[in-house]
Amino acid sequence: MSIADPFRKTGRLDGACLCGAVSITVEGDYVAAVGVCHCGNCQKSNGLAWGAFQASPEAVSVSGAVVSYAPTAFSVRTFCPICGSNLWLRDNEEDAPYELMPGLFPEAAAFPLISEVYADCAPAYAPLSGEHRRGTKAEYEAKNRHVAEGGA
Ligand SMILES: [Zn+2]
Ligand SMILES: [Zn+2]
Repeated sequence: MSIADPFRKTGRLDGACLCGAVSITVEGDYVAAVGVCHCGNCQKSNGLAWGAFQASPEAVSVSGAVVSYAPTAFSVRTFCPICGSNLWLRDNEEDAPYELMPGLFPEAAAFPLISEVYADCAPAYAPLSGEHRRGTKAEYEAKNRHVAEGGA
């Protein structure tokens, strides 16, 4: 069982980027909980820790133009081309979940934090408190694809 399992839900969430040009609807299966990553790529991309919740690809529909950047050979980060809001990160497989930015979705403000990866790479100014799973860079990289400079 995954730590996300108790938080699996089916329903609808509506989100939008800062300027409103991109809107995202989740209608179907998603995880009502947030995971955070402190890897080097996520810190550069987000300016701080990166956090997301997962939604199944069949559940996600997007309106508005988006742009993508592939920081690794196995994943893509997608943004609004007008305001620069981060929208999601996804691995390349067709069935990979969307890792959606919780800040786009008002309802996600109530989601709990359930995991922190690259926790030993977190900057001093952004400690996250609470009782959630914390894994180190070494623990993450032992089980998951990553890039040599320490990014996922
Ligand atoms: Zn925008
Ligand atoms: Zn990361």
